[in-house]
Amino acid sequence: MYESTRGNLNGQTASQAITLGMVPSGGLFVPSTFPNLNWQDLQGLTYRDVAKQVMMPYLADFPEEAVSSIVDVYRDGTFDGEDPAPLVSVGKFGVLELWHGPTAAFKDMALQVLPDLLKVSLKQFNRDEDVLILVATSGDTGKAALEGFKNRKGMHIVVFYPDGGVSPVQERQMTTTEGSNTHVVAVKGNFDQCQTAVKQIFASESLKRRLQEKNLIFSSANSINWGRLLPQIVYYYWAYLQAVKQGKVAAGSAMNVVVPTGNFGNLQAAYYAKCMGLPLDKIICASNTNNVLTDFFATGVYQSQRTFYQTISPSMDILVSSNFERFLYEMSGRDAEKVRSWYDASNQGMFSVDDATLKACRNTVYAGWANEEETLETIAKSYQAYNYVFDPHTAVAMKVYDDYVSATKDQTFTAIASTASPFKFSSNVIRGLDQRESCADEWEALNRLSMLTGWKIPAGLQGLEKKPEKRVHSAIPEEIAQLVQIMFG
Ligand SMILES: *Cc1c(COP(=O)(O)O)cnc(C)c1O
Repeated sequence: MYESTRGNLNGQTASQAITLGMVPSGGLFVPSTFPNLNWQDLQGLTYRDVAKQVMMPYLADFPEEAVSSIVDVYRDGTFDGEDPAPLVSVGKFGVLELWHGPTAAFKDMALQVLPDLLKVSLKQFNRDEDVLILVATSGDTGKAALEGFKNRKGMHIVVFYPDGGVSPVQERQMTTTEGSNTHVVAVKGNFDQCQTAVKQIFASESLKRRLQEKNLIFSSANSINWGRLLPQIVYYYWAYLQAVKQGKVAAGSAMNVVVPTGNFGNLQAAYYAKCMGLPLDKIICASNTNNVLTDFFATGVYQSQRTFYQTISPSMDILVSSNFERFLYEMSGRDAEKVRSWYDASNQGMFSVDDATLKACRNTVYAGWANEEETLETIAKSYQAYNYVFDPHTAVAMKVYDDYVSATKDQTFTAIASTASPFKFSSNVIRGLDQRESCADEWEALNRLSMLTGWKIPAGLQGLEKKPEKRVHSAIPEEIAQLVQIMFG
């Protein structure tokens, strides 16, 4: 069963939690208990079968055949190569490549599964309404969600992205999505404003009633939805199994992971894997210049009212990390009262936690950040040292990992979660690799990166510049609710 981080709703089934997306009166759904899953019992299984074992205990009200067919996506050719999430040896550490899905970012690992999770969830309730999925994106979620939901019967999706705040490839990926049920809105604002506006729509009773009359209900494809986090737990088990198989980690010994972080969903999934018994030691949280989380771990104060920076790792340009609420829920000893006081709107995005909670946070997570110059340097240095090209997000993680090793001398085997293909951010990657190079445009950069590295451009990024673009709506954050009403009300 699932309960709210703020104590205002509990005893919900998986279907209810996934259908609702978030607790209507505020708060996020979390599992009431964590099933124990012994990694040894998963040895020798395929990714698809590991996914089934990890997800089943959390989907208690799903028929087993439904879960079996949902996880088939990991073996039906949707992900390129045999292994959807290979652990690649680079230097003394491992890189967990999570970007072999259709949109070349790790969001596919969950968003190729979420539409089916939602479909089964609705069926469990005999709901016959259509679903309207609203998504705020800092770049990668948008395309991955559009791909997952396009042409799904009974489902419509609207993606809100910050105008000018995403990379050219990310933008073109979204605007060239096919499907009659897909809509894209460029918002004159940043990601946090997009996300806040979407959360307000979920909380709006009047809008909900209006859409109900049209036989529509809202749901979310952002990582506030439990259905997004659950498939992400799988690849931490997978990484550990690979590390043992490759002889990098002795059976049962601990492994560290580094997670380039924005909304804290990916990191939270790693923590949930640990709660289920996976031998993870340190979970390292890597931020870019928007280092609100690094400051939190240093001071115990979460201060989101600060300058917002647009960086070369745009998918991490986030100051209000939604899933951090789930983390604090666990770190406070599941104290819903405290979580509610911290996330009270009157705090205006700033709060400080008690010493015991802060101590628990620091015991679990090491936090660091990298600035723009360090990120570019890391791309170049890693290429020289390992002949391996990081995208800017993963380069942030690499730099923070280097700092962590220097500071702690910790030699534990570490897997770095690689969240995007470097081709999604080609011009900045080229800038990192060779300061003198400059490309006429992003499309030339893609080809040049391919020539330089000998790596193939991911299928989903080929020919983007020639594809027809769909009509893009435009709005200021304050108009988003109204726009949704005009489009669907
Ligand atoms: C979304 C994203 C992140 C941040 O992940 P969170 O789960 O939001 O913390 C990091 N890197 C890339 C490339 C992403 O698309």
